[in-house]
Amino acid sequence: MTASAVEQRLYSAADLYDAESLLSADERQVLSRLRDFLDIEAKPLLAEYWERGEFPEQLAQPLIDLNLMEPFASPARGIYHGFRIFELARSDASLATWYTAQAGLLRTAIQVGASEEQQREWLPRVIEFSLKGVFSLTEPDHGSDIAGGLSTTARFEAVADGGAGPDGGADDGGYWVLDGAKRWIGGASTADVLCVFARDVRDGQIKSFLVDRAAPGVTVEKIHGKTALRMMQNAHITLERVRVPEAMRLQNVNSFKDVAAMLRAMRSDVAWIATGIQAGAFEAALAYVNKRQQFGRSLGSFQLIQEKLARMLGNITASISLVIRLTEQQALGMYRDQDSALAKMQTSLMMRETVALAREVVGGNGITLAADVARFHADAEAVYSYEGTHDINALIVGRALTGVSAFTH
Ligand code: FAD
Repeated sequence: MTASAVEQRLYSAADLYDAESLLSADERQVLSRLRDFLDIEAKPLLAEYWERGEFPEQLAQPLIDLNLMEPFASPARGIYHGFRIFELARSDASLATWYTAQAGLLRTAIQVGASEEQQREWLPRVIEFSLKGVFSLTEPDHGSDIAGGLSTTARFEAVADGGAGPDGGADDGGYWVLDGAKRWIGGASTADVLCVFARDVRDGQIKSFLVDRAAPGVTVEKIHGKTALRMMQNAHITLERVRVPEAMRLQNVNSFKDVAAMLRAMRSDVAWIATGIQAGAFEAALAYVNKRQQFGRSLGSFQLIQEKLARMLGNITASISLVIRLTEQQALGMYRDQDSALAKMQTSLMMRETVALAREVVGGNGITLAADVARFHADAEAVYSYEGTHDINALIVGRALTGVSAFTH
C-alpha cells in the first residue's frame, strides 16, 4: 500500500490489518462523514453531557439525517453496518447504544417477530426514525433468568358482546391487557413505542407488543445515579392495565425461542460496540503518551508503555477479526447462539483490559473526563453486562460445547 493510501484510511492506528479495505468507497465515504460529524459536532459535548447524566438531544436529528440505516448494495453490507456501530462507539458508547437501540434492537425485533404486513408498515418508519422504539425485556426481578422468569403478564380480554379471541386475531374481538414492570430500558423516555415482552396468562408463552409510550397505565422513570453510560437514558417502566390492540402484537413471537432468535442477531452489534470502544480508548491513550513527557522523554518511548500499547492493539485486532468473521457468517444466514455469545463475551473481556490499560497509561489524568479515556473506561462496564453478562454468554457457549445446560447449577 502506498503512503498516500495509508493516509486516507479511516482507522490507520487501530485497524492494523486494514479491515476497512473490505468496505466499498461509498461506504467509507459515509463513515468519513459520520466521523466528521462526531469529531466536530459531538466530541465537544461529550464530557459535559456525560457529567450531567443527560443525552445531548441536539445530536439526535443530525445523526438521523445521516441516513445511517440506509444499506448500500454491497456484499460487505453486514460489515458496513458493523463499522457504523464501531465508528459511533469509537466516539462514545452512549451514542452507539442510542443508535443500536433503534437500528439493532427495535429493527431486529420487528424483522424477526412481526408479520410481513406489519413489517411493511413499520420497518420503513423505523429506518427513517419516524417510529422510535425500545426493546423492553429485562425486569426488576429478572435479568439473566429472564427466559424462565419473565413475569410481566398479557391477558386477552374479549369485549362484552363476544368476538374473536387472540387466536382469531380480530382487533374488535377484544384487547390485550399488560401488567408488570421493566428495568434498564434504554431510550424509553423519548420513544414512541415500547417493544414489550410479556407472558400470555392463557398459554404461558412469551408474546411481544408495540406499546404506545403515552398509553394510559404506562409510567417511565429515569434511572438515576449510574456510573456508566451516563449519557444514555435508561428507564424503569411500570405497566398497569395497559390496553394493547391485537394489531400491535408482533405476530411471529410465540415463545421465548423467538426472543432468543432476536438476541442472536443483536449480540453481534454489541460485539461491534465493544470493539469500537477499544479503538476510541486506544487512540486517545496513544495520542496522550506521545505528547506527555516524563524523565525528559515522551511516555510513548518507554518500553513498559509500548508493551501496553501493543496489548491494546492486539486486543483490538483480535476483536475486529472476530466481529468481521461473525458478521460474514450472519450475512450468509448462519445464526447460532454460541457464535454471537462467544463474540460478545470475548470482545467484552478484551474491552475491559484495553480500557483499563488506556486509563493506566494516562496516569492520574486517566480518571478525568478531559483526557478522553475515563468515559470509555467507565462506560465499558455497562457494555460488559448488558445483552447477556459474561457469565451468561459463557454458559451459552458451554452448553453448545458439552450439550449440558449449566444455567441453574
Ligand atoms: P443479574 O441477572 O442479577 O446477574 C448478576 C450477576 O450474577 C452477573 O454477574 C451475572 O453474570 C451473574 N449470574 C446470573 N446468573 C448466573 C448463573 N446462572 N451462573 C453464573 N452467574 C450468574 N435490558 C433490556 O431489556 N433493554 C435494554 O434496553 C437494556 N439496556 C441496558 C442498559 C444498561 C446500561 C444496562 C446495565 C442494562 C441494560 N439492560 C437492558 C438489561 C441487561 O440486559 C441486564 O442488566 C443483564 O441481562 C443482566 O441482568 P441483571 O442486571 O439483572 O443481572
